[in-house]
Amino acid sequence: MSSISTDWRKDTEVLYSKVKITARIEELGQEIAASYEPGTELCVVGVLKGSVLFFADLIRAIEQPLHCEFIGISSYGDATKSSGVVKITSDLTHSIEGRHVLIVEDIIDTGLTMQYLLKNFETRSPASVKVCTLLDKPVTRKVEVPIHFTGFECPDAFVVGYGLDYAGKFRNLPFIGVYHGDA
Ligand code: 5GP
Repeated sequence: MSSISTDWRKDTEVLYSKVKITARIEELGQEIAASYEPGTELCVVGVLKGSVLFFADLIRAIEQPLHCEFIGISSYGDATKSSGVVKITSDLTHSIEGRHVLIVEDIIDTGLTMQYLLKNFETRSPASVKVCTLLDKPVTRKVEVPIHFTGFECPDAFVVGYGLDYAGKFRNLPFIGVYHGDA
C-alpha cells in the first residue's frame, strides 16, 4: 500500500471549482474557433495524461472540424518539482505534416516540456502550431514558450485534480485544488 494520502477532502483546497472550469472552457472553445478561418480542420493533440479531462471538455466546445491525437510525455515522475528531463513515452499515431495543430496541455510550469514539444513538432512540418493550456504558472517559468490560449493563471502552488495528479492520484477530482498533503 502506498503511504501517500488520497484523502482529498483533507489534503486539497479548491482553487477552481467545476462550475468555473466549465464556464472558462466554453469561452476558450469560442476563442480557439474564432482564431481560425471557418472550416479550418484542426489536429488537436492532447498531452497525456494530465490533459485528458480538459481535452475531452475542450474539443466539445470548439466548433471547428477536428481530429484528435495524443502524445505521451514524461517530465515529472512522482515528484512535485520539475526534473527538467523530458521524453516522449508514446508518440502521435498520424503525421502532422501540413496540418493545423493545437497542443492541449494541463499546465505550463517551467516551460521545458512545451519547449521540447514545440521543437519536436517543428521538425514534422505542420502548417501551424498553437498552444492551449488550462493552467499557466508564470512565476516558475524557466524558458519562454508561446501560449495562445490560457484557461487560468495559476499561483505558485502544486495543484491537483481535473486530470492533474500527485503520484498518479487525484486526477479524478472534478475541481482543481492546491495540494497540501505529504508532498
Ligand atoms: P513544465 O515542463 O512546464 O515544468 O511542466 C509541465 C508538466 O509538469 C505538466 O504537464 C504537469 O504534468 C507537471 N506539473 C507542473 N506543475 C504542476 C502542478 O502544480 N501540479 C501537477 N499535478 N503537475 C504539475
